[in-house]
Amino acid sequence: MFWGRVAACGALVVLTGCAQSVAQGTQGGSTVEATPGSGAPTREAGPVGAVPRAGEVGRVTSEVISSVPTKRKVVFLTIDDGWEQDPGFVRQVREQGIPITVFATRQAVEAEGTPDQSGGTARFVGAGKWGYFRELRDAGVSIENHTLTHPNLRLLGAQAQQKELCGASKVIKKEIGVRPVLFRPPFGNYNQATLDAMRACGMKALLLWTATVQPGGKIAYQVPDKRLRPGDILLLHFRPNLDRDFRILVKKIKRRGFELGNLQAYLKAAGVR
Ligand SMILES: [Zn+2]
Repeated sequence: MFWGRVAACGALVVLTGCAQSVAQGTQGGSTVEATPGSGAPTREAGPVGAVPRAGEVGRVTSEVISSVPTKRKVVFLTIDDGWEQDPGFVRQVREQGIPITVFATRQAVEAEGTPDQSGGTARFVGAGKWGYFRELRDAGVSIENHTLTHPNLRLLGAQAQQKELCGASKVIKKEIGVRPVLFRPPFGNYNQATLDAMRACGMKALLLWTATVQPGGKIAYQVPDKRLRPGDILLLHFRPNLDRDFRILVKKIKRRGFELGNLQAYLKAAGVR
């Protein structure tokens, strides 16, 4: 495994934010649905981030997706689990109009189990519970499925897997108001029973990643040449200092000439729906 390290963010870069990402020849894209009882979304409906141009995206034929088939310099940000719920991070996402996709684990969102403190000392574990994720939803974020208890699914039988996947979709539908269509297996571990459960629970694709983002905003590539590629899917976690690390990461991505893509619009264009 090649765990690359990239130079730390040195120069001050003036960010123009990605809210202005041009939407030409757009696919209609995702809409934000309101959940009864939790207030209407505060953001105008419509996708945040870069959306595909006509004919830009190749077709996805597998239900297991590690990257999006495009030649445009666009990458996708995904954030997993849900223990650390820093309000500053939601503000950043909302104010900058940054497209992200979240894979929520119930246990983490509800502050059970052992919080992931890899980024430092946790300060906001379970601070807003599902309310935190409703705020993210209102900022244009898709909340997708990452199981109930974050198990290694390869060690579970078909029935237990289905319980983990369908259970999490049910909770997310109840709390967020939208039923997940994407699934990310904890640790990236899955087997045929996982794919069967995914379909049975109403989800369309299993989403992996091409690079992970470490504390400090460092990108750990899964390819030897340590470069971002068009269509890359980056994995982050709700860890302490995500707010700071995320700013560093977004600057780094933009400095390299990449846009932040709206994953839902791109997957739709790729035939995942
Ligand atoms: Zn996870």
